[in-house]
Order: sequence, then C-alpha cells, then structure tokens
Amino acid sequence: MPEPLTPAPPTTRPPTPGPLAPEALLALDRQHVWHPYGPMPGRQDPLVVASASGVRLRLAAPAEGRSELVDGMSSWWSAIHGYRHPVLDEAAREQLDRMSHVMFGGLTHEPAVRLATRLVEITPEPLQHVFLADSGSVSVEVALKMCLQYWRSLGRPEKHRLLTWRGGYHGDTWQPMAVCDPDGGMHHLWSGVLPRQIFADSPPPGFDAAPDPAYAAHLHELIGRHAHELAAVVVEPVVQGAGGMAFHSPAYLRVLREACDAHDVLLVFDEIATGFGRSGTLFAAGHADVSPDVMCVGKALTGGYLTLAAALCTSRVAEGISRGEVPVLAHGPTFMGNPLAAAVACASVDLLLGQDWAQEVKRIETGLREGLAEAAGLPGVRDVRVLGAIGVVQLDHPVDMAAATRAAVRAGVWLRPFRDLIYTMPPYVTGDEDVARICAAVRASAQEG
Ligand SMILES: *Cc1c(COP(=O)(O)O)cnc(C)c1O
Repeated sequence: MPEPLTPAPPTTRPPTPGPLAPEALLALDRQHVWHPYGPMPGRQDPLVVASASGVRLRLAAPAEGRSELVDGMSSWWSAIHGYRHPVLDEAAREQLDRMSHVMFGGLTHEPAVRLATRLVEITPEPLQHVFLADSGSVSVEVALKMCLQYWRSLGRPEKHRLLTWRGGYHGDTWQPMAVCDPDGGMHHLWSGVLPRQIFADSPPPGFDAAPDPAYAAHLHELIGRHAHELAAVVVEPVVQGAGGMAFHSPAYLRVLREACDAHDVLLVFDEIATGFGRSGTLFAAGHADVSPDVMCVGKALTGGYLTLAAALCTSRVAEGISRGEVPVLAHGPTFMGNPLAAAVACASVDLLLGQDWAQEVKRIETGLREGLAEAAGLPGVRDVRVLGAIGVVQLDHPVDMAAATRAAVRAGVWLRPFRDLIYTMPPYVTGDEDVARICAAVRASAQEG
C-alpha cells in the first residue's frame, strides 16, 4: 500500500540554549526539582554528573578536588555492567531505529516476547507468566494484586491480607509501603493510613548463621494463625536492602515455603534488589532452592539503562485469576513492555549470562572482604558484612550523611550512606584496584560519618 501524501514533519529541533553552567543548573535544581527522599528546596546540593562510562562518573565541576568518581552504588543496584557499555548502547540504538515505544494493548513486539521468554527460562521452573511493569514498585503492586485477585477468583475474598517480616523494603507506592518495615522504615509516617498488614519479627541476622528453630516456629505459628485472611507472604529473599542491608539464612525461605504450602497461602519473593547475580546466585531464592508463586525483578534488569521491572507468576496463579468472575488482570501501564527498555534488558541479560558472572561476583566479594575487614576495628563500627557483590559497614550511631559522603568523594568514590549504614554494591565490571579504592572510601566514610 502506498504511503498517503502528508506534509513532511519538521526534522530539526528549534535551537536550544547552550549547556547550563553547573552553578546555574544547581540554582534551578534547588528551585524546581525534587530529589529522592528530599525536602523542597533541597538542603544539600547534589553533585552534577556530566557523563559516565565504565565504573566512573564524570562531574561537571570538581568536588573535594575530584572530577571523576568510581561508582560504588551501581546507581542503586542497577548498573551491573557499568555505564555506556558498548553492547547495551548498541542494543538501545538498534531498537531506537525500529521504534522506541508502542502501546502493549492489542499489540506485541519482539523485544517484549524475547525478554519474557528469557525471564521464564532463567527463573525457577514453575514461574511461567510475565507481567512487564514500568518500575519495581509497580511490579510489587501487580504481584500483590495477582495474589489478592487469585483468592477472590477462587471465591475466597476474605484472604486479602499480607504477611511479611520486619526490616523489609518493597517500594514507595501504596501497597508496597504497607509491607515495608513499619518502624525503622521510611514510611512510618503513614502508619494508621496504610492498610494494616501482619508483621513477623525480623529474621535473625547472618547469612551463615545456623537457623533458629524458635524463629522458624514463630513464622509457622503466625502464618497458621492468620491463614484464613492471608493472601500472601511477601519478603525479600536473603538480603533485605533499603530496609537495613541485612542478610539472613536461606533456611528461612524454606520455612516460609513449607508454612505457605501447609496453610494455603501464596509466597512472593521480591528479587528487585537481589536479582541478576548480586548475592552470588542468579536469584537469591537460589541459595535455598526455593521457588515462589510470584516473583518481582527490576533494578538490574536493564543493566541500569531504562526503567523496567517484571512480576512473574506460576500457571496456578494465572489460571486461578483467569477463571474468576473478572477473568482478567486489570492492570496495564501506559508504557507496559516498552520496546526500548525490553531490548536493552534482553541485551543485559545475555551479556550477564554470556560471561562467568558468578566468578566476577566472587572476585568482588573477595575484594570487599579483604578491603572492609579492617573497618571492623574502627571506633563506632558495629558490624561489617559482605555477601556476593554487597559490602556493608554498620555504625553504632546514625551516620552524618554529608560528612560521610564528602569523605568518600575525597577518596574518589561515590557512596550514598543512609541511617547507620555505609554500603557498596559496585558494578560487576569493577576492577580489583577500584574495588580496593571503594573499600578505602567506605572506611574513610565510616570514620568521618
Ligand atoms: C528498589 C526496590 C523496590 C522498588 O523499586 P523501584 O524501581 O524503585 O520502584 C522494591 N523492592 C525492592 C527490594 C527494592 O530494592
């Protein structure tokens, strides 16, 4: 069919003003731009990043004498391959030449289908169906909606509550906030407004610690007692991230699986932080060989390039929902399945699995263990822990965030401490010297913060 004649669209962009000088940029930032967990206007000027490549962030203006920082944060767990990776850049460019986006209602496309298939292949076997969401929090919303709707469809609408353990973090939208830690977390402001969910005690700390039978009994008892009203148990497996950077024994995941099976409750694993190798196994559930009914992934899914997450579920859950009175999952974000993000995610997963990623994570783990060991002797340090490519120094007092960040920057490293924690989860491509540099910065940060 010949293309109809239409006026040629404009192909040039109106001239834009030249680049903003860093001071001017910061003035406008202060005036207009919210930053994460920040007041308005912001109290501390952020650093202006002009570009990034490999594991280095380039600053628009030097800070503490540094114009380049080694990234110790992987942009909040996401940039596992570092910045401007040629393979991911190429995947984005190729997809850009086809289409950046197209709606997902009534249409589909290769990047989304390939990504969903790939996720089904690499996650535990019973997970067969994939809902692509536009952020981690939304994928948790969808996961929880799946669970509630499953029971509603089966004629058991009274099973609509959620159980989790304390110390968790699942995102900042409404349902996820309700299962974040109710006390120490960022959302205690909303207690009394949020739906009241059921909280077990925090899992006893220590990845290698022998599982505590009393705690296992506590989980069993609480799940049993509330089973009649419980849709699901939702937890972060093995590593609790933004709730406190705590590690626990994988044995508790088996306890949850047993208790959920015994009492007819669904089990949701939020692997948004832990997914794609961070804790040493591809997914943290792999430490326990436990398979959830629903699982969320996000953060590192696109290698930190674009916002994308997914909720995966079993056929039992999908079929349950689809046999119900409302036999559809009523959720459909505008940017669902975004082709650009999905294409980069496919490339990122292939890039990860195409190398000996476990060896790289192990290498970083060894570097972090060596480099952080001596932090254990510093005054004010309560605990030092490392698991996979995650290193944590916990203080015995709240960190002075400005001083701690400054100390890290002075050491040439980007860190973002919070509460009583100075921690790092570097990109997997971080070389040994840079890992050592990050460790030195964590120590300096712990001393000054
Ligand atoms: C970051 C995070 C989320 C929220 O993801 P966003 O993409 O920030 O919405 C949810 N769960 C866990 C475990 C996370 O670490």
